[in-house]
Amino acid sequence: MPSPAATGPDTRAPVETGLLTIDLAALAANWRALATRSAPAECSAVIKANAYGIGLEEAMRALLGAGCRTFFVANLAEGERARAVSAEAVVYVLDGLPPGVGERLAAANLRPVLGSLEDVDAWTAQGYAARAPLSAALHIDTGMNRYGLPPALAGEAARRAAGVRLTLVMSHFVSSQLPQDPRNAGQIAAFATACAAFPGVPASLCNSSGIFLPQHPHLALTRPGYALYGGNPTPHAPNPMRPVVRLEARIVATREIAAGESVGYDATWTAPRPARLATLGVGYADGIPVSASAHAEKLAAEALVGGQRCPFVGRVSMDFVVLDVTNARAARCGDWVEIVGDTIGVDDFAARSHTIGYEILTRLGTRYARRYVG
Ligand SMILES: *Cc1c(COP(=O)(O)O)cnc(C)c1O
Repeated sequence: MPSPAATGPDTRAPVETGLLTIDLAALAANWRALATRSAPAECSAVIKANAYGIGLEEAMRALLGAGCRTFFVANLAEGERARAVSAEAVVYVLDGLPPGVGERLAAANLRPVLGSLEDVDAWTAQGYAARAPLSAALHIDTGMNRYGLPPALAGEAARRAAGVRLTLVMSHFVSSQLPQDPRNAGQIAAFATACAAFPGVPASLCNSSGIFLPQHPHLALTRPGYALYGGNPTPHAPNPMRPVVRLEARIVATREIAAGESVGYDATWTAPRPARLATLGVGYADGIPVSASAHAEKLAAEALVGGQRCPFVGRVSMDFVVLDVTNARAARCGDWVEIVGDTIGVDDFAARSHTIGYEILTRLGTRYARRYVG
């Protein structure tokens, strides 16, 4: 079990009580694996939300090194950060064209994902101002009911987009992580019909899980996010991806309590027997969800202490998590324990925290020491 204390000299040990280690070699390997699976389609990388919490600039540089040329971010600010990393990369902005952002999108050579006829008109006008049609993607909504044009408006959008350089038409799966869900086939068919209105324009439908669907609806371009960062795109099967994120926390206190004593705010957990406890110096202010807390009749999250899985007990507080280390009695103040890593994957920790791995990653806190390796 490598931990900073065990694998390196003391100078490696951070002063922080939480340590995030991000394996950029694993990130690059995950992209290569997804690119191979996507071929002959191009494989892009979704680096929105600070590259799912791991750091947009670091992730983008590693992905460029692996051969990725097309990126998706959520908004203008992320797009400008991506453009600062690479002048050449193709960068799409998923949130499209909210009022007031067109000029800066154009100035930074970012491509909005247009989601309405109004967006198409606004980007056409932006192109007149620039004296040349500007590049953009168009989103067709085939079932999310979240963003994009209904398929019925595809023909109208194609006519209205005559003054736009459409470089991509795209849609997004509702439940591609469930390969048996009939919605997948329905969306594939609806999108194919809509795409007929855009002859010659590259099409894109697959997020991470979509790449693993039996229909292989890879089209011209795939758009993985979560799987790049080590999340499992096939929750019904073992995770084919390499872990990228390792989250460790330091034990800042230990104690023994008697049977019947409680732990934490509102005494939500009571020791059924004498227990040894270890307190970690991380909490919900660092992105550890309150829903990871032990609760009657629910799984609680666990941390790996000296190779032993030890449950969270009591409610997660702002800066502290308490573990029951009765089965890992050697745990000492100053020791590092794994919260997410090679043994406790991000999907495992998320399931025990009653949320999804995407939320765990994108909420990784700002107080951790961050180390990039590989
Ligand atoms: C976030 C997002 C993706 C990436 O999805 P993952 O499930 O993380 O692979 C792809 N396309 C769109 C439109 C998205 O919003």
